[in-house]
Amino acid sequence: MLPLVALVGRPNVGKSTLFNALTRTRDALVHDEPGVTRDRNYGICRLDEARPFVLVDTGGIAADEAGLAGATARQSRAAAEEADLVLFVVDGREGPSALDDEILRWLRKASRPTLLVVNKSDGIDVRAALAEFSRYGFSDVLAVSSAHRQGVDELVDEVLARV
Ligand code: GDP
Ligand code: MG
Repeated sequence: MLPLVALVGRPNVGKSTLFNALTRTRDALVHDEPGVTRDRNYGICRLDEARPFVLVDTGGIAADEAGLAGATARQSRAAAEEADLVLFVVDGREGPSALDDEILRWLRKASRPTLLVVNKSDGIDVRAALAEFSRYGFSDVLAVSSAHRQGVDELVDEVLARV
């Protein structure tokens, strides 16, 4: 069985864009409106041809547990719980938000191996962005720009070192 890697993070941080960069498809729905990806979406990353892995894109873990947002949150949690590795995707431009904090609390409880992926690192002070997330206490942190495919190959290497 191929390793399973889950993209987890609040809406609009660029999970689906990263999913597309890793799977090189346009299957994932990318949209400016937060919360547009509602179901789990599976793809295969073959950027290292010798070591493919399954990637699951999720709709983001929203703050409230009711209605559609709640269903989306449960999907994200289920995806993370079954994953060999979680990529916790955050927005390097906006910095940590209350929702990121909440997801982090939940991820700690889920206790899956987790890599912090600071996305949207194009055209910003990457060191400052990484510093903003240092309080999250991750030893494994990577800055990427999914939209510009920067850091994507390095991310694949980091993933494959852990699955
Ligand atoms: P999701 O809700 O986490 O799946 O986020 P999306 O992949 O739908 O992206 C949300 C928005 O962020 C879209 O407008 C993307 O074009 C934009 N975006 C995604 N990745 C990047 C990036 O690396 N850099 C920049 N500048 N924008 C990005
Ligand atoms: Mg999405």
